[in-house]
Amino acid sequence: MLLLFGLKTVLRPLTGRTASCQYCGQFVHHHLEERATKFTLFFIPVLTTSRSYRITCSNCGQMSTINSRQKNALAR
Ligand SMILES: [Zn+2]
Repeated sequence: MLLLFGLKTVLRPLTGRTASCQYCGQFVHHHLEERATKFTLFFIPVLTTSRSYRITCSNCGQMSTINSRQKNALAR
């Protein structure tokens, strides 16, 4: 029996937020992006193996990875 499986990374843009940047110190809008690694079976995503979030400053472009708890704190 042939079994096709693999991993696939899915990027999903989320609503950003205005915050002060930890790199340039400016109070500007930040882009938020969800990065989910999915386990695929016959190219169909079956389950999410890991999920991380990336926040990008719109002023200096610096990117930092945050966990879901930090992301939930930002959404408030
Ligand atoms: Zn910045």
